[in-house]
Amino acid sequence: MSTSTSGGNATGTPGTSPEHLKPGDEAMAGTPGTGEDLCPDCSGSGKKKDGAECPTCEGTGRITQGIGGG
Ligand SMILES: [Zn+2]
Repeated sequence: MSTSTSGGNATGTPGTSPEHLKPGDEAMAGTPGTGEDLCPDCSGSGKKKDGAECPTCEGTGRITQGIGGG
C-alpha cells in the first residue's frame, strides 16, 4: 500500500517566518495604526557599529512601530 500524496504542497517554509515580532517591533507588520520605520538602533543599516547584525531589527534595518494616532 502506498499513500503517496503527490502534489500535496507542504505548508511550512524553513527559514524566515514573515509573521513574528522583532525586538524593535511594537506590532506585527500590517497592523492598522502602525507603520514601518527605520530602525533607531542601526539607522536602517541592519548592522551595528561593530558590524554585527542589529538585534533590534534582526538585520532588516526596519522595524514596525505605531504611528501617530492620538
Ligand atoms: Zn537595527
